Parts: sequence; C-alpha cells; structure tokens
Amino acid sequence: MRPDVEIYDTTLRDGSQGEGINFSALDKLRIAEKLDAFGVHYIEGGWPGSNPKDMEFFKQASKRKWKHARIAAFSMTRRKAMAVEKDDLMRQILEAETPVVTIVGKTWLLHVTEVLRARPDENLAMIGDTVRYLTDHGKAVIYDAEHAFDGFKDDPDYALATWQAAEKAGAECIALCDTNGGCLPREIARIVGVARDRLTARLGIHTHNDCGLGVANGLAGLEAGATHIQGTINGYGERTGNCNLTSVIPILHFKLKRAGAPARSLPKLKELSEFVDEIANLRHDPRQPWVGQTAFAHKGGMHVHAIDRVAHSYEHINPAEVGNQRRVLVSDMSGRTNILMKAAELGFKLAPEAPETRVITAEVKRRESLGFEYEAAEASLALLIGKTLAHRELPFKVDGYHVSIRSHNGSSVCEATVKVRVGDQTAHTVAEGDGPVNALDGALRAALARFFPAITHVQLTDYKVRILDGVAGTAAKTRVLISSSDGKRDWGTVGVSENIITASLQALVDSMEFALMKQ
Ligand SMILES: [Zn+2]
Repeated sequence: MRPDVEIYDTTLRDGSQGEGINFSALDKLRIAEKLDAFGVHYIEGGWPGSNPKDMEFFKQASKRKWKHARIAAFSMTRRKAMAVEKDDLMRQILEAETPVVTIVGKTWLLHVTEVLRARPDENLAMIGDTVRYLTDHGKAVIYDAEHAFDGFKDDPDYALATWQAAEKAGAECIALCDTNGGCLPREIARIVGVARDRLTARLGIHTHNDCGLGVANGLAGLEAGATHIQGTINGYGERTGNCNLTSVIPILHFKLKRAGAPARSLPKLKELSEFVDEIANLRHDPRQPWVGQTAFAHKGGMHVHAIDRVAHSYEHINPAEVGNQRRVLVSDMSGRTNILMKAAELGFKLAPEAPETRVITAEVKRRESLGFEYEAAEASLALLIGKTLAHRELPFKVDGYHVSIRSHNGSSVCEATVKVRVGDQTAHTVAEGDGPVNALDGALRAALARFFPAITHVQLTDYKVRILDGVAGTAAKTRVLISSSDGKRDWGTVGVSENIITASLQALVDSMEFALMKQ
C-alpha cells in the first residue's frame, strides 16, 4: 500500500453553493453523521458567520462525538489593513469550536492587485498572520490556495511565496485549488510536482469540474504527490460542480490500491450517494459512474450472454463491492438470456429450454413491437412471467369501467366508475378526481380495498405519458408508465393503447396486481 490519502469532504460548504442545493442546519448534521460513519477524514461544515444556519450547525456539531472525521470550519485570510485579532472573521471562526479551520487565500496576483486591491507583500502578510493566529489558538490549519494553478501559470515565484507563507506560519496542509476548473491533468501534475519539491507540508488538491475533468484533475494531483483530496458527494458544487468523491473513493481503493476511506465502507457507497441526494431533494443520477442505476446495466444481447458466463467480461468491478447491482435490461435487443436472467432476478425459475421460456420471449418481443417497454416497468414483466408460468391466479378482474368529464362554469370534474370481480363477488364503485386517471385510480382503489385492505397503502408516485407515434396525430399510441410505492418497495408498470385512459388503466391494474402478488 502506498501512503494514505486524506478524504476531505466539502459537500456542506462548496457543494451547497451548487444551484438548487439548500441544506438546513439539521440536513447538514444528518449528512455529517453519515459521512462520519462512512469514514471520511474531514467534514467541512460551512462558513461560520456567513449565515445563521452554518453557525447553528457548528453549535450542534461541537456537542457531538465524531467517530472518524474531524470537523472543519471555512473562512478567509484577514482583511487588508487590519490587525488579525481585530478582524470579526477570526472571532467567528473561533466561535465555531472546530478542531480544524480551513483558510482560503489568494495566489494569483491578478486577484491580489485587481480584485483585493492589495500590495503583493500585504497579501503574504495576510496569509501568514491569519494562519499563525489560528495555530496559536490551537487549531489545525488547512490552507486553501485559491487559483493556485492559474496564479502559478501567471507568476510561479509569487504563487510559491504565498504557499510558503502559509507553510511557515504553521499550516499542516496546503491545498492547491483549480478554482475556475479550467486546467488540464498534465498542468495539475506539473504544478503539484513543483510544489512537492518546494514545500514540506502535506499537499492537498481541490478541483472543479468545468471541463468535465474534476475527478481526473484530482487524481493527477494525487499521482504527482498530493496526499489530501477535497471534493463533494455526487460532485455537487458551483457551476458544473466539484471533484466527485463518489468516484474518487472507489478509484483510490480499486484502481490505485491506496488507502482512502475504510475498505469496509465501500459497499455502502451507493447508499451514501443516494442518501445525500435524498436530503438535497434531487433525483439520483442514473448515469452516475459507480453508483448510478445504469452503471452496471446490460442491454445488448451479446453482452448479456457473455456476462451470464463470465461476469467480469463486461464489468470493470463486481457491482456489489460499491453497493450497486447488475441489471439486465429487457428490450427488443434482448435475446433469451436477458429474459432468463431477468426472470431469475425477479425470483422465477425458468429453464433455458423450457417451452414457457420461448412463449415469454416471444410475448415480450410482440408487446415491445406494440410499444410496451419493460426497462422501467419490471413489475409488469414479473406479472407476464408469473401468468405464463401459471404460478398465480389473477387476484381480481376489471369487468368494466366508465369515465366522464363534466365542465361547469369553467371548472371541470372527472368521474369514474369501476366494476371489479373477485371470485364470485363484485364491487361497483365511483370516485371523482382532478383528471380522468386520478378518478379511475380512486374508483379502482376503493373497489379493491373492500377485498384487500392492504391496497390502501399503495400510492401512485409518478405518472408519465409518452406519445409513441407522432404522425398519426390523435390516433397515435400512448405509453403510460406508472411508479408505485407501498412505503417499503417501489415498482413500475406499463400500459400501451391508442386510448390514454385504457393505457393508464392497464398500468394501474398491473400495479395493484403486483402489490397483491407480493403480499
Ligand atoms: Zn471550490
């Protein structure tokens, strides 16, 4: 094993600067606890004094026991022409009571003279004074060198002088930041290499993803001598985001064989990634490397056939090692192997040469030619297989339905009636709704609840409509995809028809049947 790499998470500070991301103090605490349990080395909680939420987070965080991580508070170098102890920023950062403080300072002369309007030597004094003041107060200081790479390219001697000022004042780590995200991996490697030769403090790397190189640049920094990497879960951050730790962590472990996060945590990576998205109220990106839903999904018949024989023939790691799973997509590209593997995944035993296997494969292909799609509707596929194998009887049958729309004084009301048969009993119910599908859902649910009370827990969580064949105008086919949940499990069902109501009812019926089948 090569030397340890420190994982510095800034999801709660740099990550929360991403568009659409807004954490409350409690959200931050929950994420921090999850990160601590996972085993990152540092958690940067925010910028004390910048807002009351961050101050509240640090107040709560200082009362807790952290098992693995050290909590860091973020701030900047003292203001120009002001004694460090008189600067309010210092009082605020000390009040956060964190063991670690991270101080950002200027490397690039352009920023020193044009933005800050300070003299170059004054900036050096601001860096030195701030770091020394905080180390004197017992803090471990990480110095974030803003625009480290752009600054170095502009004036290498001055850039080095700023980093040396922080080192001399006692910073334990100098983190070089590609703040604008415009550098290439070879530039990062060259400049980190120079810093490695000239500094003795631990070197860190902080990159942004503006060129789609956030992770690549972070790794280039590590390969060139940095042993501390800063980033965010799921790559949150300003503009196009920060270096994505959700990729860095497994790359360190599986590809570079360097110790970063604890090996025992790697199978919880997907859960961590989903948890953070959940708290941020963002949809989990299905195409995210390592942890996305499609990261180990196989569609082409040849791939599927091969992974059935040797899993690693089309997989770079075993998906379970990062908490993900192999998925076989059923589509018109699929051969029999897809169906067999999908059936096994759904809990059915199908023999390759069994007549049912041929029937199911042919039926899936026939339905797909009509516009059905099973990739997001695995529950409908499970029902199709289950019925063909005659493992189960249908729990209910819809004998008939009626939907009407009435418009009155500019507002419209939809009403649906449904007749359902269970064994030799029938139920005939009526419901109103915002729209026809909503009314139909209400009536079907009311009818079924008389026989199956558990159905009341099932909820429709998403409803998508796609027109399949645009040229036919209103006679076009409609595909309806419904997502349902009973609070414990989620499933998808599909319906296709020229009539949107019929397509919706098919998907609704499948959803209810699946809920009952799984009981
Ligand atoms: Zn940043």
